[in-house]
Amino acid sequence: MKKLTTLLLLFVGLLMFGQDLNSSLPVDETIKKGVLPNGLTYYIKSTDVVKDAASYYIIQNVGSVLENDDQQGLAHFLEHVAFNGTENFEGKGILNTFQEKGLVFGRDINAYTGFDETVYNIDNVPTTPELIDKGLLVLHDWCNYLLLTDEEIDAERGVIKEEWRTRQNGQMRLFQTSLPITFNHSKYAERLPIGLMRIVENFEYKALRDFYHDWYRTDLQAIAVVGDIDVDTIEAKIKALFSKIPAVKNARERFIVTIPDNQEMLYSLGMDKEISTAMIEFGIRHKKSLENQTVADLQESLLQSMVTTMLSSRISEEAQKPDAAFLGASVGYQSLARANNAFSMRVAPKPGQQEAAFKAVLTEVVRAVKFGFTPSEISRTIKEFSNYYETQIAKKDDKSHGALINVIKANYLDNETITDIEKEYSIAKTLFAKLTPEALHNTIKKLYTKHNRFLNVTGVEGKNNLTQERALAVINEVENNNTLTAYTEAFEGKTLISGLNIAEGKIASKTNNNALASTTYTLSNGIKVHYKFADKQKNTVAFKAISHGGKSLINDDNLPSAELLGNLIQMSGLGEFSATELPKILAGKTASMSPSLGETTEVLDGSSTTKDVETMLQLAHLYFVKPRFDEQAYKVLQSNIDNYIIRRSKDINEQIKDKITTTLYGDDNPRKRVFDKDFANDVSFEKIKAVYLSRFENAADFEFFIVGDVKAEDLEPLLNKYIASIPVTSEKETFKDVTPKWKSNNVDEDVSIAMEDPKTNVNIALKIETDYTVKNQFVTKALGDILQLRLTETLREEEGGVYSPRAGAFLVKEPKVLSYVSIKFDCNPDLAEKLVSIVHNEISKMAKGEIKQEDLDKTLTSYKKSREQSKSNNGYDMTLLTTFYRDGYNMENPSNFDEVVNNINKKDIQNLAKKLQTKGQSFEIVVKPLAKN
Ligand SMILES: [Zn+2]
Repeated sequence: MKKLTTLLLLFVGLLMFGQDLNSSLPVDETIKKGVLPNGLTYYIKSTDVVKDAASYYIIQNVGSVLENDDQQGLAHFLEHVAFNGTENFEGKGILNTFQEKGLVFGRDINAYTGFDETVYNIDNVPTTPELIDKGLLVLHDWCNYLLLTDEEIDAERGVIKEEWRTRQNGQMRLFQTSLPITFNHSKYAERLPIGLMRIVENFEYKALRDFYHDWYRTDLQAIAVVGDIDVDTIEAKIKALFSKIPAVKNARERFIVTIPDNQEMLYSLGMDKEISTAMIEFGIRHKKSLENQTVADLQESLLQSMVTTMLSSRISEEAQKPDAAFLGASVGYQSLARANNAFSMRVAPKPGQQEAAFKAVLTEVVRAVKFGFTPSEISRTIKEFSNYYETQIAKKDDKSHGALINVIKANYLDNETITDIEKEYSIAKTLFAKLTPEALHNTIKKLYTKHNRFLNVTGVEGKNNLTQERALAVINEVENNNTLTAYTEAFEGKTLISGLNIAEGKIASKTNNNALASTTYTLSNGIKVHYKFADKQKNTVAFKAISHGGKSLINDDNLPSAELLGNLIQMSGLGEFSATELPKILAGKTASMSPSLGETTEVLDGSSTTKDVETMLQLAHLYFVKPRFDEQAYKVLQSNIDNYIIRRSKDINEQIKDKITTTLYGDDNPRKRVFDKDFANDVSFEKIKAVYLSRFENAADFEFFIVGDVKAEDLEPLLNKYIASIPVTSEKETFKDVTPKWKSNNVDEDVSIAMEDPKTNVNIALKIETDYTVKNQFVTKALGDILQLRLTETLREEEGGVYSPRAGAFLVKEPKVLSYVSIKFDCNPDLAEKLVSIVHNEISKMAKGEIKQEDLDKTLTSYKKSREQSKSNNGYDMTLLTTFYRDGYNMENPSNFDEVVNNINKKDIQNLAKKLQTKGQSFEIVVKPLAKN
């Protein structure tokens, strides 16, 4: 009898969805996938999202979980030395080859190592025949032809130690404490990819080579080529080049680490001297299927996403109440490990309220488990999901290389289907049409199981921390609370502009700028809107309104309030609607707008899809005409601020930041204040409101820009309605120069702070006044980028003393024009002095004209390449317009780019370096660890 019911249910299921739940998902045929006889998998996708460029990836199904005990850290170590010598690219050959063509290490050439995978990338390579072959050849070498010389291995030990040091902090130490609980003492708990430093510093070469030979092999490798290429040509090249790589015989089994089940909840309490605020993470592990996906899997994952979306919105609604016990919380259902997902809940409690916070968020989860979801929540979520699908479909040919690689990775590593999004949506629509509240209710019930639970508490020394006993008691209490009632919402369908009286204006005049292919509208209220149609990215429209003034016009007393303006505005909602109501009003729409305050400007920044341009302009209208300031939200903001001050009081990186500020500007510079209790006491609701109104009340001196996939005839009536109708005054503003001064022209100080894991933090800067010209922009930038190449070679590669030295330079335009150079890095305290002298030496060499032509060439080539590739993006057209109307020049004119970049020579860089050294201002602040007693 039992059997029969199951069969019957299955039959009903079939009828309901009009599809066989067991049928496989529709596959995106535009991504070519194949497997060579040696087991190597390849993916090829042709896309012109970036013109004349392709990206090359190798996805190794290999990560730190495969390490033996004496290899902890070597999966990641191997990833580093894979860049330091292969059969066809000796030494730094890989980096040099691509840097010469304008790629930048770290940005375009990179890799990462995880528990279960190691992925290498070379992005946005120009598609010349030579470089297509080089790209494939690097992937080929990464498969099986690493040199792994003794010298390169030894040289990398220091770099990895410094990578460990720069990432090591209170958060990381506590993360390590939580691993055995999260992963139930499985191998994951002992395989954090960075590994053990005693192994990294001392391992025998053989241990690394063994790992490489065991695991870097064709049956565990996939390569992917995505870009402006011909699929058949690339496939033929892949077959010719990669088929020759031999498959490994008697290969070790690529095992998958399973996390054992637990009946009782696992618990950890972690505390750290550098962590002063609590955090609670509650999770429930589930098995993840690695089988081929079916319609039933899609259905399940849609239901799961809907459930966590609805739950998240209920919880954020709770967090917006001033008397909530928590500052924020999130729930989600995500991948935890290769074969596990987790339903998880993260709670940031208010100080001293760990138990109440945990209880409050858990109550919302249990409420949903008991009562499910309301019809209005469900229909709103369907609207949001449908909008998501429609947006994705409209933009499907504009998917970035990175986004394409992500679906390829999920296919290779987790066996997720690369679906045809249009066909997937039609299945999803059938599902949405028949969706019952019971199906969603059952989904949350299935996620909230009694077993496989874990709880990681970040506690605070000396505080009332949530213990295992109390946590279990709270869970028991909440689950058995008979007074719990179902969620209700009293929210009726209104529109964004309900209750608003808009006096429509009109377009007074219209002029075309032929050079830019743009149009400038002057509206009846005097506002100017510069518009350009651009559909390089379909279905995307960008908005900007910019005005001079910014924080430079805010007096010292109001400055702390000005710093928090963005927070309060965002938490206050807009027009008639609170921050809880606003997303409900906007459900099913893709439009955003946010006001912000810079040093010398105030800006409204927005974006939308083509169908939602009207909503975007309504938002802009409201931010000028009817901003909302919510006193309840301000109370919530105050508790956030209090908690933030506690949190940063012990955080090393925050302390370093404060030390630099006070060393450079003195202890009480009113325009460079440290974010502490005194600062917070000077913030007020009334002041924030006054600052906002002073900056955004008058739209007259804003210049508006709209660029994207919206036609003029569709835009014009909307401009009449929402922009020409904004009331204005005749007042126009500019900015003032209120830049705070450094304590002296050459600040040179060492300061110390107490730390758990010692590191030294070096900060060097130089600046000099100059003129605002295109040439000065690029000469300044080039000086910084050449310095970056020098410091990577010296501090990282030669000395092994720094993981990631960061050098850069830029031209500051306002309030004074400056060439500004900055150098920052963390390093081993014992080496700091030597490393700092190397930096100075490199700057001196530049000032003496000792500049390598190849460094200059790499740098200038990268500017030309970035410029060319940026043209595939609507953002390029936005910059074209803002540069023309705000900075006064046409950047497409050869005299404003090509002629400048092509003519920059070593002498230009030398002159700037010399001027900076002899006539500029500088600081050198070295933050050291306080000697421990
Ligand atoms: Zn690394």
